[in-house]
Amino acid sequence: MKRAIFPGSFDPFTIGHYSIVMRGLEIFDEIVIGIGINQTKRNLFSVKERQNMIEQAFVSEPRVKIQPYNCLTIDFAQQVGADFVLRGLRTVADFEYERSIADANRKLSGIETVILFTEDKYAFISSTVVRDLVSFGKDIRQFLPPGVTVPYIKQS
Ligand code: ADP
Repeated sequence: MKRAIFPGSFDPFTIGHYSIVMRGLEIFDEIVIGIGINQTKRNLFSVKERQNMIEQAFVSEPRVKIQPYNCLTIDFAQQVGADFVLRGLRTVADFEYERSIADANRKLSGIETVILFTEDKYAFISSTVVRDLVSFGKDIRQFLPPGVTVPYIKQS
């Protein structure tokens, strides 16, 4: 059984993230989406809201599990019995960051990181852009996975 975690903040989980997980299912038997709880980051959506939105996206995909975590990513991987970390790469700007984390994780735990290049059409989508649109009351449904409803639109 090949199991990977897909860790991130997912504030919110976008169609770009969704595409990486769906493609990851071609490689892995099971993917655990880990919602990293970072106390120092100010979030728009609560962990519960993020979890609900991701659950809606994968309601008919039993090979995808969703779990919040507040420990080191490699410790989370070990807790859920995953040997791989799945990540997505949009631009060269992501590259150095992803490489340094992947190297550190492999040296500390032996856990390998598998990186998928984003599909072209999703390369510009980031949680930050989506959050900005939400704060100005814009409809963000086209940037979310199919079937996901936004709990509410927060005004700034
Ligand atoms: P983090 O805070 O750990 O960067 P994110 O929620 O921003 O978490 O992203 C999680 C993973 O998804 C990262 O590997 C990131 O590069 C990737 N990712 C983010 N947006 C996209 C996208 N539009 N297409 C593909 N991968 C993406």
